[in-house]
Amino acid sequence: MEISVVIPLLNEEESLIELHDWIANIMQSNRYLYEIIFIDDGSTDNSWQIIKQLSSKHESVKGIRFQRNFGKSQALDAGFAIAQGNVVITMDADLQDNPEEIPELYNLITSQNFDLISGWKKKRYDNVVTKNIPSKLFNAVARKTSGLQLHDFNCGLKAYKNEVIKNIKVSGEMHRYIPVLAKNEGYTNIGEKVVQHQARKYGETKFGINRFINGFLDLITISFLSKFGKRPMHFFGLWGTLMFLFGTSLAFYIGAYKLYKVYNGIKTILVTDNPWFYIALTSMILGTLLFLAGFIGELIIRNKNDEKHYKIREKLNL
Ligand code: UDP
Ligand code: MG
Repeated sequence: MEISVVIPLLNEEESLIELHDWIANIMQSNRYLYEIIFIDDGSTDNSWQIIKQLSSKHESVKGIRFQRNFGKSQALDAGFAIAQGNVVITMDADLQDNPEEIPELYNLITSQNFDLISGWKKKRYDNVVTKNIPSKLFNAVARKTSGLQLHDFNCGLKAYKNEVIKNIKVSGEMHRYIPVLAKNEGYTNIGEKVVQHQARKYGETKFGINRFINGFLDLITISFLSKFGKRPMHFFGLWGTLMFLFGTSLAFYIGAYKLYKVYNGIKTILVTDNPWFYIALTSMILGTLLFLAGFIGELIIRNKNDEKHYKIREKLNL
């Protein structure tokens, strides 16, 4: 198998046949050995019936149907788990991504030895206010925190070496940061290719404006996870210890100073009237809490089991 095309979808009944025929056409004219994996992420329209028809007509079409809507990341993860092609290409089901890009993406991965090529919708056909401008900001922050110089992290059209997708776990809403996940696993040969983009032909976007709020929160999570996810004690333990030490030294200093004054008969105030007393107290308490957070984090890591976060209802041609 040379190419697996992985397509997550939610209520895209109008696009599926057109998309399939377009992809199949390009695959056949380039004589690729391929499979097309549709992951129905809990559609409530006829999407699954259409995938069923396609899979009975074409052996290359495989289908996974989720029990309910689990999200694009989970759908991609389920597709990645079964993808057999040497090169795995993801694309959206809404005909916004152009299948004509496939041959060039395939060549970049196979002959130029890239681990991952991320699409860049340089000229976008989306709403300027709700999407294009926030997305510029978002990508700028993502570049800063991840150190990856990509223009369009969230582009649905991407190509991967098979090895890469088998070694990353896409959960939550992390599909926006797959290049960062790959980089964190050591796949650093990451490139970018300007890709054609179309306006959505049917239906409407499945993500609301909250995509940006969630997107930014996930960005914090991911940069934190990549640095300290496997060793929380190195962050919380360090700061906890430092704060605790600062608090105790301060307390000792206040106590010693007080004793010194009392001993020499100098007039003193109550410790509880001294603002530094409260700073010392708070530092000791916060330090202990931070330390505990790190310690509990370490315990959780040791107990973690890699359970899946979605439930499959049906499979086709698998
Ligand atoms: N999608 C999905 N599960 C979801 C939401 C979206 O599988 O919960 C699919 C959707 O059907 C499409 C792709 O993810 O194939 C991108 O979604 P959309 O086009 O709505 O996003 P946009 O292009 O507006 O960023
Ligand atoms: Mg779209």
